[in-house]
Amino acid sequence: MRCVFCNKPVHGGDGMSITGLGVAHQQCFQADEALRRTFQNLDIRALNDQELVELKDLILAEQNSRKPPEEFEDVELF
Ligand SMILES: [Zn+2]
Repeated sequence: MRCVFCNKPVHGGDGMSITGLGVAHQQCFQADEALRRTFQNLDIRALNDQELVELKDLILAEQNSRKPPEEFEDVELF
């Protein structure tokens, strides 16, 4: 069995199995995990450009809807 990340043979001690992928060295898995851009099981690198724009718009819309209304921000207190 070869590591799914570096493609070198995996021997017993330093290997681990990844569901659906195969086996990997523990170091390779940890290195990959550090580089991966995931959010709650969503791998944003797997999105195409259009989907990424849609995700960004969703986030901006949600942020805007959570902001307090402008009129309350500009009230002057005496
Ligand atoms: Zn490896």
